[in-house]
Amino acid sequence: MEEKQERRKRIVLIPAPAQGHISPMMQLARALHLKGFSITVAQTKFNYLNPSKDLADFQFITIPESLPASDLKDLGPVWFLIKINKECEVSFKKCLGQFLAQQQEEIACVIYDEFMYFAEAAAKEFKLPKVIFSTENATAFACRSAMCKLYAKDGLAPLKEGCRSEEELVPELHPIRYKDLPTSAFAPVEASVEVFKNSCEKGTASSMIINTVRCLEISSLERLQQELKIPIYPVGPLHMVSSAPSTSLLEENESCIDWLDKQKPSSVIYISLGSFTLMETKEVLEMAFGLVSSNQYFLWAIRPGSIVGSELSNEELFSTIEIPDRGYIVKWAPQKQVLAHPAIRAFWSHCGWNSTLESMGEGIPMICRPFTTDQKVNARYVECVWRVGVHVEGELERGVVERAVRRLMVDQEGEEMKIRALSLKEKLRASVLPGGSSHKSLNDFIKTL
Ligand code: UDP
Repeated sequence: MEEKQERRKRIVLIPAPAQGHISPMMQLARALHLKGFSITVAQTKFNYLNPSKDLADFQFITIPESLPASDLKDLGPVWFLIKINKECEVSFKKCLGQFLAQQQEEIACVIYDEFMYFAEAAAKEFKLPKVIFSTENATAFACRSAMCKLYAKDGLAPLKEGCRSEEELVPELHPIRYKDLPTSAFAPVEASVEVFKNSCEKGTASSMIINTVRCLEISSLERLQQELKIPIYPVGPLHMVSSAPSTSLLEENESCIDWLDKQKPSSVIYISLGSFTLMETKEVLEMAFGLVSSNQYFLWAIRPGSIVGSELSNEELFSTIEIPDRGYIVKWAPQKQVLAHPAIRAFWSHCGWNSTLESMGEGIPMICRPFTTDQKVNARYVECVWRVGVHVEGELERGVVERAVRRLMVDQEGEEMKIRALSLKEKLRASVLPGGSSHKSLNDFIKTL
C-alpha cells in the first residue's frame, strides 16, 4: 500500500480548455485522488467537462466570465488565451474566496495549467501554495523561452518565416532549427510571445509538475530547472500513471476497434491529427490518394470541422475517391485503445504531446506532420533524438504520402524504428512503476504537500 496522507487535504486544479490539456490534468487529478486527496476542478464554460460521468469523485466549481461562447472557436487558441486570462484574473479571486469560505478541508495547493496563468494571482492573495502544471514537455518550454528572448532582443526578425536558411539551428537548442520554434498557425508571433512570456514566468509558484519523463529529455529538464529555480517534477506519461477518467470532448467511435480486430497483427497505419489541427481540402485528398496507393491498411480519424472551409461530411468528401476495404474512416477514435491494438503498426500524427506520448507508450513509430506550436518541436525530437519516426516536411502530395507510409510499414528503416520504439516503450513503462523516475517524482511532490 502506498503512503496516503493522514488528514484529508484538498487540491484545486485549473485546466486549460483544450482536449490536450484537460486529459493530462484529469489524469493527474485521478493520480492525486488515488493518493488520498480530495479534488476540486475550477473551470469556465469552455472546458465542457461533464462532472456526472466518470468524474463523479471530483468537485467542480465554475469560474464566472462573460465571454461569448463562440470566442474559443472565433479567436483561435492564442488570442483566446490572452482574453480568458485577462477576463478571469479578478473573477477567479472572487470565486476562490467564496470557495475557501465554505471549505472544511485544508487546501494543499492550487495546480494550474501553465497557460491559465491568471490563477497565480488569486492563489497568492489567499496564500495558497501554487504549482504550475505543464502538459507540454521541457524542450517545448525551452523553445518558448528562447522565442521570447529572441523577440525581446531582435524583435520579429529572427522568427519570421523564411528569414533563416531552412536548416539553421537555434544556438544551444540542438537539434531544434529556427523553423521548429513553436510559432502558432493561429496568431502572429507577437501574440504567441505574450502568452509564452506569461506561461514561462513562474511568479510565486513553488514547483512545476510536467507531463514528461526524465529519460526522454534529461538535458532540457536540467535547463528548465536552472531557468525556473524551483523543483520540477516530471511525472509522465500521465496516461500510463492512472487509468484516466474519460475526458473525450467528442464521441469515440468504437466500431473501429471491431474493424481492427479483423486485421492482421502489425498491419495497419492509424492517422489522426488531434483536436484542433486543420487541413486544406487539397491536402486531405492528396493524403487519401497516397494512402490508397501505398497499398497498406489504414484507420483514419477525420474530425468534423478539421478541413478548412469545408462543411462536407467524410462521405461527401471522399465521393471522388474509392476508399478500398483496406481503409476505415471515423470522425473520432478511442485513440489510446487504437494505439494499444496489436493490429496497429504505425501512427501518422500531428505530434501533439499527448499523441506522441501515447504512441511512444505503445511502441508505435510515427510519421510526423506537425501543424503548429510545440508539435514542431515534438516532431523534431521524434525524428532526430528518439529516432522513432520520420518528419514529413514541405508540400503534402500523394507521392510523398505513399513513400512515407511505405518507409514505416514496409522498409527495413521502419523495422529499425519499430525496434527502437519498443525499447522506448519499456523505458516509459518502467518510469511509472515503483522504482521508476516518474513514480518517484510524483511521490516526492506529494511529500511536499
Ligand atoms: N484523440 C482521441 N481520438 C482522436 C484523436 C485524438 O481520443 O480521434 C485524443 C488523443 O488520444 C490525445 C488528444 O486527443 O489524448 C489530443 O491531444 P494532443 O496533445 O495529441 O493534441 P492536440 O489535440 O492538443 O493538438
